[in-house]
Amino acid sequence: MRATFRKRSFAFVAFGMFALLILSLSFAFKVTSSAGAAADPGHQVLPANDGWAAANGGTTGGSAATSANTYTVTTRAQLVQALGGAKSTSTTPRIIYVQGSIYGNQDDSGNTLTCSSYITGGYSLSAYLAAYNPSVWGRTKKPSGTQENARAASESKQAARVEIYVPSNTTIVGIGNNANIIGANLLVKSANNVIIRNLNFQNASDCFPQWDPTDGSSGNWNSAFDNLSIFTNSTHVWVDHNTFSDANQPDSSEPSYFGRIYEQHDGECDITKGADLVTVSWNIFSNHDKTMLIGSSDSLTSDAGKLRVTIHHNEFLNTIEREPRVRFGQVHVYDNYYNETANSQFQYALGVGKSSQIYAQNNYYQVPSGFSAGSILKAFTGTVIYTTGDIVNGKAIDLLAAYNAANTPHLSASVGWTPKYVTTVDATSLVPSLIQGNAGTGHTLTA
Ligand code: CA
Ligand code: CA
Repeated sequence: MRATFRKRSFAFVAFGMFALLILSLSFAFKVTSSAGAAADPGHQVLPANDGWAAANGGTTGGSAATSANTYTVTTRAQLVQALGGAKSTSTTPRIIYVQGSIYGNQDDSGNTLTCSSYITGGYSLSAYLAAYNPSVWGRTKKPSGTQENARAASESKQAARVEIYVPSNTTIVGIGNNANIIGANLLVKSANNVIIRNLNFQNASDCFPQWDPTDGSSGNWNSAFDNLSIFTNSTHVWVDHNTFSDANQPDSSEPSYFGRIYEQHDGECDITKGADLVTVSWNIFSNHDKTMLIGSSDSLTSDAGKLRVTIHHNEFLNTIEREPRVRFGQVHVYDNYYNETANSQFQYALGVGKSSQIYAQNNYYQVPSGFSAGSILKAFTGTVIYTTGDIVNGKAIDLLAAYNAANTPHLSASVGWTPKYVTTVDATSLVPSLIQGNAGTGHTLTA
């Protein structure tokens, strides 16, 4: 089957130049020197000291791949094949270049699958709404029975399509500024040493949201698929220069049922269940609600000592919450640009969850006029966060003091650690222009 995709045995001389790529495909340049290889993002590795993913040996992804395990993919089927097959547990180094758009909802022949393609067990939204209407079902227990079983089975069918597992020692990198992962959930599960760069992650959308009347005070519609999930003890993951969004299916386009928005998205980049040593750098997280969850449950005490993540030089643009929300982890959040000026739905940036130890440094916040700086932090069951060097709407501010002036119980600054794996911390005043000129996809990648 490998014959069905083009192997890359040539160097990127100037990554991101599509015209040159076409030339390269025509002439099939060979990699002739290590200098040539170094310019190729497929062979780049996480720089020394660049966040938690640099600890304990660093992150090299698939950079050691042979030409036989180097691929350019243009379809979902090719991507899965290049990854070693569905739910591959291979540890063979592999470099995968993504060209154009990969659609999660696509069959192996390249045909588009719609939500109706996955329906099984007699599920219908109208029957589901009728069965679990609070006036019928009440608000004290989660849905169960025929329609809920059918919803779950239909969602599982969609999962088998849109969930794409990334094994250990893999680099996936988009070509140019238009490499898209659309309607899919990349999963790094029980995998080590993975690099994911220069991809536009768009609209991982669940066709079968679940109603939970017990979630919050008014109930919620919850969905299954993140754009990118890093979980189940995965380590050494570098997520760099990607752009995440709900794209053409923003929450504002969704209907409401039972008085709550019919939410078809989950996280943009969720890091959970014992994942550790992750660096998230130079990405744009945009137009989304539950942006980044680090640690998924207060009761998952095995996460203690894990979930160590560095989040630097990212833009959060029109995102509502969880930027990130943290449980347990020692998380360094620095030089990020929170660009929320026009976002009337903005709720908070940093969520202080159970046993979290966030060290937040030199972040630049632009919040809507009238939004209180004391609400940029939000405490769940956490008790500590260290903040320094922040600017809110152009003014230097002590974010923790602002929080404590507005909220009780107070949070303490005693997080008990200091970040060790750091390259350059930029001055906060420089952050907006630095991020807007360099974050997200379509930039020349270096490492
Ligand atoms: Ca959403
Ligand atoms: Ca999630």
